[in-house]
Amino acid sequence: MTSVKDNPNCDLCKIPVTKNKIQCNQCSIYFHASCVDVSNSQCKNLNKPGFDKWYCKSCDQRQMGLASIEDKLTQLLENQGSIRSDINHINQQMQMLDSKVNEVVKKLDIKI
Ligand SMILES: [Zn+2]
Ligand SMILES: [Zn+2]
Repeated sequence: MTSVKDNPNCDLCKIPVTKNKIQCNQCSIYFHASCVDVSNSQCKNLNKPGFDKWYCKSCDQRQMGLASIEDKLTQLLENQGSIRSDINHINQQMQMLDSKVNEVVKKLDIKI
């Protein structure tokens, strides 16, 4: 009964993986190809060295999550740029208003 150690348990069905073994490239957890919707021929290709990398569902989601965070960061940086130009625009308008107010104050001064 030592053979159990040689065959890692599939992370989904918890049964030792003997045939059609597939390993996540990220977390190194083993699965049955059938448990993760990978065809037998695909599985053979994935087990050849130098072939496509395969990621389990949670690692795949983590990677997608990272990608969406990167997207949001670039969006934020772009927004920051446009907010800066908005602030510049507002500052210019404030200065114009300021000088107008000064003008009005001067005129009022004269009248008084
Ligand atoms: Zn399984
Ligand atoms: Zn994984």
